[in-house]
Amino acid sequence: MTESKDILEKLEKIRLKALELGFDGFGVAPPDVGESGEWFQQWLAQNYDGEMAYIKRGEAKRLDLDLVLPGVKSVICLTTPYFTTPRTLDYLNEPETGDISNYALNLDYHDLIQPRLRELEACLAEVFPGCQTKGYVDTGPILEKPLAEKAGLGWIGKHTNLLTEGVGSYYFLSEILVDVALPLSEAGQDHCGTCTACIDICPTEAIVAPYVLDARKCISYLTIELKGAIPHEYRKAIGNRIYGCDDCQIVCPWNSYAVATDEPAFQEREGVKGLIELMQLDDEEFRARFRKSPVKRTKRRGLLRNVAVALGNSGQLEAVPVLTEALSDPEPLIRSHAVWALGELLGKGVLEAVESCLLEETDVLVLNEVERLKTV
Ligand code: SF4
Repeated sequence: MTESKDILEKLEKIRLKALELGFDGFGVAPPDVGESGEWFQQWLAQNYDGEMAYIKRGEAKRLDLDLVLPGVKSVICLTTPYFTTPRTLDYLNEPETGDISNYALNLDYHDLIQPRLRELEACLAEVFPGCQTKGYVDTGPILEKPLAEKAGLGWIGKHTNLLTEGVGSYYFLSEILVDVALPLSEAGQDHCGTCTACIDICPTEAIVAPYVLDARKCISYLTIELKGAIPHEYRKAIGNRIYGCDDCQIVCPWNSYAVATDEPAFQEREGVKGLIELMQLDDEEFRARFRKSPVKRTKRRGLLRNVAVALGNSGQLEAVPVLTEALSDPEPLIRSHAVWALGELLGKGVLEAVESCLLEETDVLVLNEVERLKTV
């Protein structure tokens, strides 16, 4: 058997194992981010990463995969579909309900995908005894989208997500770096053409140019990654989105090809999405509801901040009692957003009532929100 035939057979064995484990897309990229490295540095220079300090911290590793796995020769790129039910923009017509991004409707994908990566790494060790590997699912500094594009899994669309012809973009990416030179896949080609649907729909105009996302404006960043107060200029545009935003993917024509997965971990979990109920979650209830969900990333304070914004946008006067109650919440972040929401629902007229609830208030964020209410 020639060496090339031998390695192709070994790669096929690994690919079949990946499919058996539930991975959908499989490809191999060189350990070189190429021109994407320069693009990434320009993106960072514009501060488009906002407060996601971990991105800048991992800059050197993202540019040089050898710093992640010394001697790396190939990157196996993988996709895991999470799409479960047809998704439209109709959720915007239900302002009393909080919308959660499709990928976060049930269990935390890390918990599902990480063990699968370990199994695939074990398969690699069996096929290539003594090889070194490093697996990531959003868990380390790696430019996963350019690598997935080089691995032929699809292309980076104008909305900056990876998408695949005839498949769409509702999937998670993961990678295994390996110090074995594997046969490379053919890189993906751009099929966005003249379409601009994702750019046009973005509620906060976060796609500042085709293929360029200012994360600081993106609702996924504002509702998940941002730890502090949501800038006022974006609060109305957030609508009833309380954890992420799928709009750019919902309108993407390629997602009409998405096929629902039957993976139990991703099926929508029955439970609280009513904003008024969510606003009343205490610590224990939050943990019970979201302990195994990606939503735990925001912690209770972040989620209730988002819920307060959504309630402020909802026009629901029935929310006034829970928002008034939230003025006594131990978290200033929640109190300050509750002040804003009450102002949105009741206008300046609520000022006296708010001030009487906050007689002892000392937190600057909350006091500033009250001052702002005076000028509405
Ligand atoms: S909506 Fe259109 S422009 Fe945006 S990623 Fe999809 S195909 Fe590309």
